[in-house]
Amino acid sequence: MTDLLFIRPFFLLPYLPISLFPTLMTLKAAIIPVTPFQQNCTILFDDEEMRGVVVDPGGEVERIRAAVEKAGVAVEAIWLTHGHIDHAGAAMDLKDALGVEIIGPHAADLKLLHNLETQAQMFGLTGQVRNVTPDRFLEDGDVVSFAGHEFQVLHCPGHAPGHVVYYSPDAKFAHVGDVLFNGSIGRTDLAGGDHDALIRSIKDKLLPLGDDVSFICGHGPGGRFGDERRNNPFLI
Ligand SMILES: [Zn+2]
Ligand SMILES: [Zn+2]
Repeated sequence: MTDLLFIRPFFLLPYLPISLFPTLMTLKAAIIPVTPFQQNCTILFDDEEMRGVVVDPGGEVERIRAAVEKAGVAVEAIWLTHGHIDHAGAAMDLKDALGVEIIGPHAADLKLLHNLETQAQMFGLTGQVRNVTPDRFLEDGDVVSFAGHEFQVLHCPGHAPGHVVYYSPDAKFAHVGDVLFNGSIGRTDLAGGDHDALIRSIKDKLLPLGDDVSFICGHGPGGRFGDERRNNPFLI
């Protein structure tokens, strides 16, 4: 497996003229699958200014740091989508290493974040995981940014009560965490899970953003909302 997979969100939209989206020319993503759960820790960055954020550092902090260094990105913050171990397990270690703040998720995940070390014991990951206290929780409608790239915060409960999605209207790109997957949806059998809420989050908040929105998700390949709206068996 490659350590560092560079993709540009707009490469998922090859049939659209890039000139329609001048502002996303410089938004880039690097994915580092981490933990036994192969979670897509993602470096989102501007490839001219080489500044960005790390989304969901779930574990293997040394690999994440090596990827950040290899990419040459100055990391300005850690953004969390939700409080599960594979997404937040290494957030405190990365915060300490980089000297940056942890932003998000929604405060409804505080209990999960303060229970990570217990989760770690359940999964046999003792010693690699610390409980997380974010520097700032996010609300639906907040805007977060780096290097001029603005992302709207969408509170999308269902997989986890405090799950947030980061959406860039300019880039027509979303980081959806474990809300939606390519051909699947987040599981709802964990603590705080709610199937009906998850479906509402996807159908009422994500899909209306447009068929042409490309996404990176917490596990496996990303995709486009239009393909999920038409073909995802959990949404039909
Ligand atoms: Zn999760
Ligand atoms: Zn996950």
